Amino acid sequence: MKAVNTMKVTFPAISRNEGLARSVIAAFVSQLDPTVEELSDIRAAVSEAVTNAIVHGYRDQSGMIDLSAGFDRENNLYIRIKDKGCGIENIEQAMTPLFTTAPEGERAGLGFAVMEAFCDKVTVKSAAGKGTTVTLKKRLLTRYEQD
Ligand code: ATP
Ligand code: MG
Repeated sequence: MKAVNTMKVTFPAISRNEGLARSVIAAFVSQLDPTVEELSDIRAAVSEAVTNAIVHGYRDQSGMIDLSAGFDRENNLYIRIKDKGCGIENIEQAMTPLFTTAPEGERAGLGFAVMEAFCDKVTVKSAAGKGTTVTLKKRLLTRYEQD
């Protein structure tokens, strides 16, 4: 991707930063003049990935989350959520709707399904003990006047 603009923020994996992540991505994406629906889809997808990094990736440890994003001239938006937590052993299983490793909590196993419904492509890279990187790709319909 030849990026028109990019950004990266790093914050501790604590639940009060879920709102921060939603606000940061909304502020970045607002440059593309998204529709209300696009913006709410993006906020929801990022929120699910960040929540996963906090509650699963760093379940019983502390750590940092990197949230980065960029877009190109074709209004392709890329968002990356990266943690250095426990990692996912079986990515295909983890991405199956209703699968959760935390059924005792209020988890429904629908976070990846939400990301997939609200984005065009969801890519997960993970290594047990090393961490997880989720990349969300979404083509925005609205056009930003790019020079
Ligand atoms: P919900 O999102 O509905 O509250 P959930 O988080 O369990 O429930 P998903 O978001 O779909 O459901 O994630 C499925 C499973 O993938 C999780 O239960 C967890 O085992 C694993 N997982 C997801 N993200 C991570 C991550 N960043 N690090 C480690 N494991 C993860
Ligand atoms: Mg989840």
